[in-house]
Amino acid sequence: MSDSYIDLVNSPLGATLAKKLGLPKPVRLRRHAPDRPLTAGPVLVLSDDASRPDADAIAAALLPWDLDVRRDTHLPEEQRWGAVVVVLTGITHPGDLVTPVLALGTTLRRFARSGRVVTVSRAAGADLDPAEAAARQGVDGFLRSLAKELRAGATGNGVVLGDGVDVTAPSALGALRFLLSAKSAFVDGQFLHVSGPGADNPSWERPLEGKVAVVTGAARGIGVEIARTLARDGARVVGVDVPASGDSLATVMNEVRGTALQLDVTAPDAAERIARHAQERHGGLDIVVHNAGILRDKLLANMKPEQWTDLLAVNIEAPLRMNETFVELAHEGALGRSPRLIGLASTSGIAGNRGQTNYGAAKAGMIGMTRALAPVLAEVGGTANAVAPGFIETEMTARIPFATREVARRLNSLQQGGLPVDVAEAIAFLASPAAGGINGEVLRVCGQNWVGQ
Ligand code: NAD
Repeated sequence: MSDSYIDLVNSPLGATLAKKLGLPKPVRLRRHAPDRPLTAGPVLVLSDDASRPDADAIAAALLPWDLDVRRDTHLPEEQRWGAVVVVLTGITHPGDLVTPVLALGTTLRRFARSGRVVTVSRAAGADLDPAEAAARQGVDGFLRSLAKELRAGATGNGVVLGDGVDVTAPSALGALRFLLSAKSAFVDGQFLHVSGPGADNPSWERPLEGKVAVVTGAARGIGVEIARTLARDGARVVGVDVPASGDSLATVMNEVRGTALQLDVTAPDAAERIARHAQERHGGLDIVVHNAGILRDKLLANMKPEQWTDLLAVNIEAPLRMNETFVELAHEGALGRSPRLIGLASTSGIAGNRGQTNYGAAKAGMIGMTRALAPVLAEVGGTANAVAPGFIETEMTARIPFATREVARRLNSLQQGGLPVDVAEAIAFLASPAAGGINGEVLRVCGQNWVGQ
């Protein structure tokens, strides 16, 4: 599961060789640690003229986060930029991009490892003046292209604000903070759409304090990191997995001081049993993470009927059935004041993958379900979102033959696979109060994988 190539190409000899041979040179990504600053260096806030009041408001909002916030591109020789925030909320014509974008360009050779570019802009809609729509949509193409140019673990992402959402609304700032931080290490070339204000986190360290979360498939892989990360953020966690994984599930749940529930998610009464367990052991349920999943890879021409039906049963039919119950409970007020349903999709459900017609159908289904649930959850003050991982270093991907694995893990802008914790951080963010204005989104955690949008 470890990627020793990264260490090799970052050694003196390996670096010279990689340069001569034109090989990819990924770096170890900067990841979150409680004692580490939010960004790897000073943060520059740029804007066009019309967006300046919003840029001022954002710069002021960044100060309490212990950031060294700058408003001009001058940087002492020994320093490196940790991040550049480009505020473009007031643009009305593509020409408005010139000044801030070219100013950003002058900073790029002075970026710290895992530096950040984050744009803040407004959604392009068909009801806009064509020039304004072109300017707003232009941010999309500009940022996605820039993300492909950035090196040394730097990422480029954007916050897109819906109509009437203020730049300092809790969800606008929550999204900005997540994208600036090391928690978004493997999120690259993505836009987070903020459609509502959301709510302030009780604290940035323990945003889920007082919440109860259930994580299915918590005995191994990504599910373990989701359980750990939600617990770190203050949630009490119920871990669910099949009885055959009971021992590992118990170990994980002991570690995070949660409770274990041995259960096959395809059981007709799975949701009722989860809700009852959460109520009896923790006094309620607020967050559901549908992480349990299986693979049954086969070319369609060779696929046995059960390879299709078993996979669909676990990966999409079980979450669908369980959500029917969770939505009912949410409407009865039994799923907390701001219920969160979060599903694990996959880049295979966006771009397709050879040998995975069954998996692609299920993971695309997860995306469809999430979008349809979003307005339903909004009625009760909740949200439904999905996270779509790309290549993640797990036991599952470690079993892929060497050559195929090497190609698959390098085919993204960060030239490496993500870690389970990268997926977990995205889920913990979407579960937090500050993400309350983000609904119906599919957040890719894929290092800007070259497939799909
Ligand atoms: P994994 O196989 O390591 O773990 C999945 C867990 O789900 C296991 O503990 C398993 O016992 C459990 N599970 C399976 N069927 C179950 C059932 N019927 N009831 C209860 N639990 C069940 O997988 P992973 O790599 O950690 O993936 C987790 C999720 O992320 C899956 O939904 C997967 O499709 C998705 N995903 C993974 C990757 C990746 O690169 N690893 C990429 C994209 C999406």
